[in-house]
Amino acid sequence: MAVYTPPLRDMAFALHDVLRVQDSAVSGYSDLDRDFTAAILEEAGKIARDVLAPLNAIGDRMGCRLENGVVRTPTGFKAAFDTVRTGGWIGLDCDPEYGGQGMPYVMGTAVGEMQVAANMALNMYWGLTHGAYSAIHAHGSADQKATYLPKLVSGEWTGTMNLTEPHCGTDLGLLRTRAEPQADGTYLLTGQKIFISAGEHDLSENIVHLVLAKIPGGPAGVKGISLFVVPKFIVKDDGALGPRNALSCGKIEEKMGIHGNSTCVMNYDGATGSLIGEEHKGLRAMFTMMNEARIGVGLQGLAQAAAAYQVASAYARDRLQGRAVSEAANPDGPADPLIVHPDVRRALMDQKAFIEGGRAFALWAATLIDADVRAGDRHAAGLVSLLTPVVKGFLTDKGFECTVQAQQILGGHGYIEEWGVSQFVRDARIAMIYEGANGVQALDLVGRKLAADGGKPVMAFFEIVKAFIKANDGDERLRPGFLDPLKAASKDLQAAAMFFMANGIKNPNAALAGSSDFLHLFGHVCLGYMWARMAKAALEGSDDFHHAKVATGRYYMARLLPATGLHLARIQSGADPVMALPAEAF
Ligand SMILES: Cc1cc2nc3c(=O)[nH]c(=O)nc-3n(C[C@H](O)[C@H](O)[C@H](O)COP(=O)(O)OP(=O)(O)OC[C@H]3O[C@@H](n4cnc5c(N)ncnc54)[C@H](O)[C@@H]3O)c2cc1C
Repeated sequence: MAVYTPPLRDMAFALHDVLRVQDSAVSGYSDLDRDFTAAILEEAGKIARDVLAPLNAIGDRMGCRLENGVVRTPTGFKAAFDTVRTGGWIGLDCDPEYGGQGMPYVMGTAVGEMQVAANMALNMYWGLTHGAYSAIHAHGSADQKATYLPKLVSGEWTGTMNLTEPHCGTDLGLLRTRAEPQADGTYLLTGQKIFISAGEHDLSENIVHLVLAKIPGGPAGVKGISLFVVPKFIVKDDGALGPRNALSCGKIEEKMGIHGNSTCVMNYDGATGSLIGEEHKGLRAMFTMMNEARIGVGLQGLAQAAAAYQVASAYARDRLQGRAVSEAANPDGPADPLIVHPDVRRALMDQKAFIEGGRAFALWAATLIDADVRAGDRHAAGLVSLLTPVVKGFLTDKGFECTVQAQQILGGHGYIEEWGVSQFVRDARIAMIYEGANGVQALDLVGRKLAADGGKPVMAFFEIVKAFIKANDGDERLRPGFLDPLKAASKDLQAAAMFFMANGIKNPNAALAGSSDFLHLFGHVCLGYMWARMAKAALEGSDDFHHAKVATGRYYMARLLPATGLHLARIQSGADPVMALPAEAF
């Protein structure tokens, strides 16, 4: 059974030594000193380790059951949910006006990583609640905010996001759910949504569904989509729960992973809802909270990798197989531990270097959201909008790969459920698909984000990397191992961007054929930049933690960052190799 150890020291290092969140200019929060963040992270870590992680395998095995229209979550989920809820963790970074604790998003992100690593399926019940909170907070009326936000922040009610329909996932312009305006200003919603996470369950008194639907007579396609809040129980004027709304869960899906989270078919049969924001501007409203939601999903990929790595590294130190080619590490025993073998080391180093670099990257992105939201920093807003598809796509693709590498280290035992690693593989897989499949993240990055605001955010990113290299160029401890490879990787990224600029307009397929490579190239440069910053910070320290940090960073720069050259070569090969065959040839 997998045991989870919260990575407290690593988080403190990333937050304080690298990102310097104690500086209020970074987080927009003046009390974020080491003692304060340590207290929060320690407490969150305890809950993750002692309350959430022990239920992970149970949730996987039991899954959810639909009984007479009610979804029963696995044994223990309700009590664990209540522990998180009553501890105020759901509203950690929510607005104090509605009962939240007003912490910066970066703290929510650090806490979130531990919760997701410990139990992704259970965490999703309040993760989606946070999404619903953010959409209502940003776009709801004063009445909607007063009605829903305190209950969502306290976790008495939970939230969902209803976008997907049987015939439309990525292409939301096709959606058919209708919202008929009523004389009293409400709307009646009719249609079917599928794959709705946490659509029905037994953890909360009420479920607040955010539903995308079309008002008849509106513009065609995505321009005619509006956003509605549709509660499971209608809320009376005094805030008490009224009658059951005309919506129900028709089915829960059998699926590959996250069994403890209910994935529901939701039927709306003239359900009463109220409009959020303006008519036909629903997609825009939904998308304002997309940066947060997508960074949250990127975190899922990272967190599953981190949890799987903990099992694999412990196993590799313990399991005796074969002898070291140089000198026996365990001469008195029957064999040496797996960790002596260079190929096992390589796999462990791949994971460790990705996880620690990815953690710093996700936390950096979270500080940019804080700078945008708390300090109105438009520069940070542009940058995080550019980086969001990278966080989502790169961390989930690579996170999944890492869970598979962890599984490989356990050999056949990795494939057997007992050790828990196969669950991490299965759970991590969905993060590459939902919240915009990763191919669509790549499309967003190349098709929209790269040219957004006249290319200012991407130029700003290049400047940040260049300024770091220039500022540290005189440091011989950093230059050959970190700055030179970062400079080369950043050049590859610039060359790829130039290729798209030169070819994208006359041949859009040339840009899109390279879009996933571009996302990965970008992800590597981001992690290379984070590793250079981490190495600089670690060189100030002198204990084993700091030495390991520098060595792991060197590994990233020497063994993983050179992937940028391969991605660039693929991008520069253009559309032809990809589009050569007619559809009938497949
Ligand atoms: C377990 C689970 C939980 C989910 N939770 C929710 C939820 O809570 N709420 C919700 O609304 N939805 C949810 N979803 C739905 C999920 O977001 C969609 O499955 C996802 O957006 C993809 O849509 P699709 O399945 O219809 O695939 P499609 O849109 O049919 O796409 C199929 C493939 O084609 C690619 N593709 C499509 N269009 C393009 C294009 N233009 N360019 C390049 N590639 C393209 C995609 O990248 C994808 O790989 C969930 C799904 C699952 C399985």
